[in-house]
Amino acid sequence: MRRLDFKDHRRDLDRNRYVYAVVSRRARGLSIGVNLNPDKVCNFDCPYCQVDRTTPGASPRIDVGVLAGELEQLLERAGGDLWGRAPFDSVAPELRRVADIAFAGDGEPTTPPEFPAAARAARETRDLLAPGVPLRLLTNATLFHKPKVHAGLAEFDELWCKLDAGTETYFQLVDGTRLPFRRILDNLLLLARERPIVIQAMLLTVDGQGPDDAEIAAWVERMREIVAGGGRIDYVQVYTVARKPSDPRCGPLDPARLEQIAGAARAAGLRASVYA
Ligand code: SF4
Repeated sequence: MRRLDFKDHRRDLDRNRYVYAVVSRRARGLSIGVNLNPDKVCNFDCPYCQVDRTTPGASPRIDVGVLAGELEQLLERAGGDLWGRAPFDSVAPELRRVADIAFAGDGEPTTPPEFPAAARAARETRDLLAPGVPLRLLTNATLFHKPKVHAGLAEFDELWCKLDAGTETYFQLVDGTRLPFRRILDNLLLLARERPIVIQAMLLTVDGQGPDDAEIAAWVERMREIVAGGGRIDYVQVYTVARKPSDPRCGPLDPARLEQIAGAARAAGLRASVYA
């Protein structure tokens, strides 16, 4: 029998359209995922992305009723028969808990027009069936300035926001977009002034080269600017590629360098940890 462990991120749960379950190394338990991008379209094109875009996606339309039903069913099963079926029957007993519900899928979750309604439906279902479980949004922060997206953010307990770079040039390299870096920084500040945010930084090598010290200093400076501007950063997650990325030029940074980078963030007064 194949063991479900931290490396096994299979999503095929009874052919659900939007809701899936993975055992998450970061959350230390079952992470229930909500994929609002079944079409696999994203406004970033990160070379380290692990979404398989060699096969076509599904319709971009989100049926919020179906999504809520899938979430309800999975939360109910997580309290019972889920752990008796493969592959979940091989999960270690201490991980047999729902750690979070996270909007994280095959693209940027805030892009579909149904995002606010989906967020609300997920929050209501969570309140009813799993009140202690955090509802998280993993986002690239590109659309926080849009009123409808901004309204939807209020449904989440935690916002985990991507910040992989400190300079525009490096941002374009590692996030594969022509969207202005300034917009992401402005959006991070906008939200961080309203509530604490979590920063997620994917740091990696491209063609064998990781970010140099100047890039890391700039990355720390961008976060320092958020704090100086009145924003709150709860903590910083430093991580690297753990599974095969779509672009073979990408590779993991070594643990010592990741620790050094987290240390640079800590030296600026931020809470930072490496998530290997
Ligand atoms: S933002 Fe996320 S889903 Fe989009 S390309 Fe980057 S890693 Fe992939």
